[in-house]
Amino acid sequence: MPTLRRQVAAVTAVLALSVTAGAVGTPAFAGDDRQARKTSIATGYGGAVSTVDLDASAAAIEVLRHGGNAADAAVAAAATLGVTEPYSAGIGGGGYFVFYDAQSGEVQTIDGRETAPETMPADAFINAATQKPYPFAELVSSGVSVGVPGSLATWERALKRWGTLRLGDALQPAIDVAQDGFVVDDTFRQQTLDNKVRFSAFTPTSSLFLPGGDAPAVGSIFRNPDLAATYRLIAKKGTDAFYAGPLAEEMAATVQAPPKDPAWVPPASAPATSIPAFPGYLTTADLAAYTTLDQDPTHVEYRGYDVYGMAPSSSGGTTVGEALNILEPFNLGEMSTPAALHHYLEATALAFADRGKYVGDPAFVDVPTDALTDSLFGKERSCNINPATAATKPVAAGDVSTYDGVCPVAPAAAAHETDTENVSTTNMTVADKWGNVVEYTLTIEQTGGSGIVVPGRGFLLNNELTDFSYDSTNPEDPNRVEPGKRPRSSMSPTIILKDEKPFLALGSPGGSTIITTVLQTILNRVDLGMTVSEAIAAPRAAQRNTVNVTAEPGFISAYGSGLTPYGHKLVPAGDAFSSAAEIGAATAIEFDRHGRMEAAAEPARRGGGSAMVVTPAP
Ligand code: GLU
Repeated sequence: MPTLRRQVAAVTAVLALSVTAGAVGTPAFAGDDRQARKTSIATGYGGAVSTVDLDASAAAIEVLRHGGNAADAAVAAAATLGVTEPYSAGIGGGGYFVFYDAQSGEVQTIDGRETAPETMPADAFINAATQKPYPFAELVSSGVSVGVPGSLATWERALKRWGTLRLGDALQPAIDVAQDGFVVDDTFRQQTLDNKVRFSAFTPTSSLFLPGGDAPAVGSIFRNPDLAATYRLIAKKGTDAFYAGPLAEEMAATVQAPPKDPAWVPPASAPATSIPAFPGYLTTADLAAYTTLDQDPTHVEYRGYDVYGMAPSSSGGTTVGEALNILEPFNLGEMSTPAALHHYLEATALAFADRGKYVGDPAFVDVPTDALTDSLFGKERSCNINPATAATKPVAAGDVSTYDGVCPVAPAAAAHETDTENVSTTNMTVADKWGNVVEYTLTIEQTGGSGIVVPGRGFLLNNELTDFSYDSTNPEDPNRVEPGKRPRSSMSPTIILKDEKPFLALGSPGGSTIITTVLQTILNRVDLGMTVSEAIAAPRAAQRNTVNVTAEPGFISAYGSGLTPYGHKLVPAGDAFSSAAEIGAATAIEFDRHGRMEAAAEPARRGGGSAMVVTPAP
């Protein structure tokens, strides 16, 4: 593809020109220009993108403008997110890539999930002294939580299957942003502050992200020359330079002996903080053996739409799909808003019960994906929804071995499912002028991942293995730790077709609230009459089969009084590592029949996202 490569090189030159114009290296988008260009809604033609970040969306749009397709643009944006959203995604993590191929009319996926190292014991998370799992706060900042990264292999596979660019060319915009810098915004600074204590415990992490001992100031330029050099190395030598050779050796060594500052003590502000920095199990053999998986998507029909999602190892496709099947018999559009939301909350509790019982890595567990996405199973599960009263949580899982769509006797309550997934991650939606669509969710798990930067390489390693169940002694648990296994994910990149053409593509970060965010956004759009932008902006709540419903403050004030009579207990969202009471950070593109695309990003969450189109509508 020499022509296209030249074109992308030209793109890069354009970006680089604006970057190096200032004496000290002005980033591509600075000051007022930055604010002016960052918009959460963009409507037009010829291609579109929505990400959480201006620089990433710009990288995608430039690739599209110069003849690249949606897969090319998605990889360019993902690599850029690795620079500008380093606490959420990057080459130290993994993800799931969903592609609608306009030529074949098919949706296909790549599973780029991290895997457990081959020598990881099943009791790796268990404290031998107490026989109980270590607390998440200790496991997260450690080598033991690091899985074999899959993102780079995903990018290579996506380009090979569907793209036209070479990996090195797709990395070029990200190399420029890493080298020349980006403008620190409130979100980046706040995420750094939220992680300051644990980042300060690891020498390479504090020197990269806490220069001078503090989080970078809002409005300053953040450069990551180490990551630029790592990307350049990969651009030159290919993914082998990551999955083998010195970099692979350094990653394995870093995981096996996390670079904890020997002088570190908990700060006075958090004296009880314990960071044992447990060593992990990653070896160069694990890295050399890593492979992505080409997979068929999950599929359900919902009100005349074909909804395609990510099959296990993610629980996203089965759980969103099952909840839609549960809701299909109810006419949500005719109900009052509290009544429709009550049905939504009840449906997700049921679907989460089944996810907990049945979903794990299908290479290790017999996952009943067909049953979980069968409309008859969903119909039978819908019998458990009382239109007037919330069921006592947690609700029990259904029986996938015998179902016929007929209401069974009321089941007993199940054990509480501990939710240890967190609220980091990033997501993008990209479409091109040929009609191809990408929905891609990628992550390093917790915001800030393991907290461990590979020394001199400029990127954080994931803590994805904390997505396994911690107490892995239960042989019935499909998500127990097993060597070589992929931990169950909630990532739910979703592409919806209407009459075999794209209608809506969407996804979100947010740990297990990804599932509820994607579902709620679909319901907002399809059932409740909102536009796609309104559907994303609307306040969110997540019922994951727990006693309380996690909700944003805006949701509680708008619907709390309407939902309380049903028996729902709403509590504000938020966790120990995040100062924001937000759920998700969605992106989407809606398509009409005439090539018009509406790209939608968050107007406010995470500081607002960035939607762009190639040719704006007049
Ligand atoms: N680790 C989570 C998952 O795979 C995603 C984390 C997040 O979105 O914050 O489902």
